[in-house]
Amino acid sequence: MNWRKDLNLGIKPNQLLKDKTTFRIGGKAEVFACPKDEEILRKLVIFARKDKLPVFILGAGSNILAADSGLKGLVIRLSSSAFTGFKFDGNLVRVGCGLMLTRLIQEARRRSLSGVERLTGIPGTVGGAMVMNAGAWGKSIADSVKEVTVMDYNGRILVIRKDNAGFVYRNSKLGKYIVLEAVLSLVKKDKRKIAGAVKKILAQRHQSQDNTLPNAGCIFKNPAKDSAGRLIDACGLKGRRAGRAVISKKHANFILNLGSAKSRDVLKLMELARRSVRNKFKVVLEPEIKIWC
Ligand SMILES: Cc1cc2nc3c(=O)[nH]c(=O)nc-3n(C[C@H](O)[C@H](O)[C@H](O)COP(=O)(O)OP(=O)(O)OC[C@H]3O[C@@H](n4cnc5c(N)ncnc54)[C@H](O)[C@@H]3O)c2cc1C
Repeated sequence: MNWRKDLNLGIKPNQLLKDKTTFRIGGKAEVFACPKDEEILRKLVIFARKDKLPVFILGAGSNILAADSGLKGLVIRLSSSAFTGFKFDGNLVRVGCGLMLTRLIQEARRRSLSGVERLTGIPGTVGGAMVMNAGAWGKSIADSVKEVTVMDYNGRILVIRKDNAGFVYRNSKLGKYIVLEAVLSLVKKDKRKIAGAVKKILAQRHQSQDNTLPNAGCIFKNPAKDSAGRLIDACGLKGRRAGRAVISKKHANFILNLGSAKSRDVLKLMELARRSVRNKFKVVLEPEIKIWC
């Protein structure tokens, strides 16, 4: 049997990426799979390698712009129960890559453990957060990481210590692997204080970010000692439209999907923002979102 059609491998036919990304943009994945465990994942990776088929790992799809024309390759989503578990042991937690950050924050708070609440409001998985080194207001998930277990594209399992993970602002070296799980080190804190911090962060997000329509969070990384949003705003681009995409009037580093926006609409606005900021400030903006186009 052709492995690309083998339902035992968790293959799911006809999956549209617009249904799997927070931007609600993206055509069909050539092959899409949700493996039920690590063994099936290994098989998929090896089959794809033999066929020279590119592999894309999808978390919650909250930082991805996918092409309307679809994606040539194998998209793997690690959302089955084998990848969403967590186990607390004192101040440590071993957590699966597919677990949503929101759940991790809740579970840590229930145990009076602090460290991950700073990720409140980030709509991603643990795996996506590791690869992107997700964070906000000067703190990131790397601050709590002890080690990360990954699979390489030959199906081998490796354990990577924090110091070797290459964590930098909104990036890491983990993207060249498949992140399976991580061990995080948290600290004891009064539950009420954690709850207070969560409430404060949610209020700050509500005030500064624009989540009224589908989006992928901040489009560009902040340049050193500045903010991409401030620079784009200073170029007078808030409210600028391309097709059915618009630069948010509230936060200029957010692009919103007005409904049926195309990936090319978003790319046009990104190009406009980059060009305008480069011309006015001599600053080159670097995309934070991953572009699967
Ligand atoms: C409203 C909104 C607010 C946001 N606010 C913030 C914020 O404050 N701070 C911030 O840092 N980000 C923010 N983001 C962006 C995004 O939520 C984070 O980058 C998040 O960590 C991405 O996780 P994900 O699971 O959605 O990953 P995806 O978007 O699915 O993937 C992102 C990258 O990680 C890779 N990846 C995902 N899982 C794995 C895995 N298991 N193994 C290997 N590679 C993997 C993908 O291939 C891709 O390259 C925001 C997004 C939105 C929509």
